[in-house]
Amino acid sequence: MIETSFLNFTVGPVQSSEEVRAIGKLQVPYFRTPEFSELMLENERLVKKFAKADENARVCFMTTSGTGSMEAALINCFTQEDKLIVVNGGSFGERFEQMAELYHISHTTIKLKHGEALRAEHLAPFEGQDYTGFLVNMHETSTGVLYDMPMISDFCRRNHLFLVADTISSFMCDPFNMKEWNVGAMITGSQKALACPPGVSLVVLSPEAVERVYSHNPMCMYLDLKLALKNGERGQTPFTPAVQTLIQINARLRQIDANGGVDAEVKRCSEQAQDFRSRISDLPFELVSESPANGVTPLHPLHANAYEIFKILKDEYRIWICPNGGDMADKIFRVGHMGCLTKDDNTTLINAFKDLQKRGLL
Ligand SMILES: *Cc1c(COP(=O)(O)O)cnc(C)c1O
Repeated sequence: MIETSFLNFTVGPVQSSEEVRAIGKLQVPYFRTPEFSELMLENERLVKKFAKADENARVCFMTTSGTGSMEAALINCFTQEDKLIVVNGGSFGERFEQMAELYHISHTTIKLKHGEALRAEHLAPFEGQDYTGFLVNMHETSTGVLYDMPMISDFCRRNHLFLVADTISSFMCDPFNMKEWNVGAMITGSQKALACPPGVSLVVLSPEAVERVYSHNPMCMYLDLKLALKNGERGQTPFTPAVQTLIQINARLRQIDANGGVDAEVKRCSEQAQDFRSRISDLPFELVSESPANGVTPLHPLHANAYEIFKILKDEYRIWICPNGGDMADKIFRVGHMGCLTKDDNTTLINAFKDLQKRGLL
């Protein structure tokens, strides 16, 4: 049996509420029913409300991890006629770049150092050029950087660029306004800020994006958003979805709605992050992000190996922090603030850090 009774500060899957977990042990219902359609239409309505989307926006629920919806957004919103700007400040920006390469969509990358914020001077060279689209991970989860969306939005409006925002780790953690920022496609996933099990990701399309999707023919069936849009009109999906995860998403969205909506949820996540950050100043860590997002705090341990700290906390303290991959693995680990975590949980983690320090391991 894989062990699951850990205190989980990873960036996903994150800890779910009791209510969401209780759904996990039920029989999975048949889904081609009016009752399931109604649940799906409510999911669409609440996602649009929390994304602050146009009333004619649409939501495509995809049974894929977040990357599936990144790919769906790319191949349904753009063609080889397009020319994109891609922000690459870490692993997820790099993924967008790799996808653009794979589909031979012409693009230029803005490469940022790990932890570096995107500034006006990075965008200036692209002003008044022939670009048509912009891809950004609003929160680059690998380095904890929250990009300046109002600045990006202004730039895209001025230059008539179609804006795709991957908000997988920022939707419901950091303020987001799809309509005001003129975002064409917004992407999120079930296992991060939505705090449900993995398996579902979604693409919210602006009314303009819906038209765009209907006019394109991507060389793909499963990720063709036309099928999702068409079936979604009656609260259905073209293929068997992760039924249980969609029911859990419904419970979670309703919970947030009943507790003050998205603004209250963003505030909760922000306070959880502030509480943690305000209490680690005497620990031997350096903050990595120039422009921190609420969902995660990446830390560089000054005297110890980041991956070793992850292993010791896991094996000896039953706490999961989130290791980094690739060339960041030894230098950076991350502490998440998404999902069902409390300030007492922060205390437990900080006490474990202090204990490691006492043992000479930090
Ligand atoms: C986690 C994450 C993804 C990828 O999600 P998967 O569900 O692992 O495919 C993409 N973008 C961002 C910003 C993420 O945090």
